[in-house]
Amino acid sequence: MNPFARKRADSVAFLGETALLAAIRRWLGDAAPDAPFGMGDDCAVLPRGRAARLVTVDPVIYRRHFDDKVAARDVGAKLLKRNLSDIAAMGGRPIGAVLALTLDPRTRLDWLEGFYRGLAACARRHGVPIIGGDIAEAPDTVAASLTLLGQPSGSRVLTRQGAALHDWIFVTGRLGHSLDSGHHFKFTPRLAEGAWLARQREVRSMIDVSDGLAKDLKSLTPTGLHPSIDARNIPLRGKADIAAALSDGEDYELLFTMAAKTDPAAFARKWRQAFPKIKLSCLGRFEPAGSHDENSLRMECYHGFEHLH
Ligand SMILES: [Mg+2]
Repeated sequence: MNPFARKRADSVAFLGETALLAAIRRWLGDAAPDAPFGMGDDCAVLPRGRAARLVTVDPVIYRRHFDDKVAARDVGAKLLKRNLSDIAAMGGRPIGAVLALTLDPRTRLDWLEGFYRGLAACARRHGVPIIGGDIAEAPDTVAASLTLLGQPSGSRVLTRQGAALHDWIFVTGRLGHSLDSGHHFKFTPRLAEGAWLARQREVRSMIDVSDGLAKDLKSLTPTGLHPSIDARNIPLRGKADIAAALSDGEDYELLFTMAAKTDPAAFARKWRQAFPKIKLSCLGRFEPAGSHDENSLRMECYHGFEHLH
């Protein structure tokens, strides 16, 4: 849906700020707790014992992350889900979200309602209260930036650091063609899987694949090593080829490393018991940089998504 109204009566400007805020509360429903734990005061207060240790922020911007072909509901849900994917990548669980909106006054009310209803449905599904936000005005723009607070789900947080020589490299689900297939807004963030992985001591580091395997795997690769990956092990989504799987991005799958001494087949069995419906692939392992293996993919030939490039 195009987010801009032709008639003023259909726009957010027609409603004005106070009535708009009341409408937003109605659209969010029970996904938004009352003040002081939610909207309506200068800050939201996190309940006692809910100290946030994980913080992440991500935007969706009109003409950049969505266009007229995407339903407003899907835009709202995607905004929350891409942040949830970052919490999943640390093995965390979400505890609350705040939302900063920047809108042209011509923004359609029904677009904004769809956006909030999609956001609220996703928030309810994943148990994330929307605890506050802000609305600012800017010409020709519809942008929303969501800050998500989280906690470790267990005793440990997984970071991008920690892999070592000969450690195994795994990825969940399938990769590539996320735009053509609609996966970029249909995906389910891997929260349960991320929390489970953080509890497995043999798992050393983790990231979610948002900018493409080629780029995101670099973030897990220790200095002096390179990932030795057999292209046949890369799980392809639909008609994606290897280049698409490495470079498209927006897969929102979990990419993680596991200690060299662990048996990957035994780990895969343990995974299948926990998540029988979610594919898990062992891509390869880390080898010394400069070592050559005939079957290994030349990762340096592929690039993921670079921002500000
Ligand atoms: Mg990420």
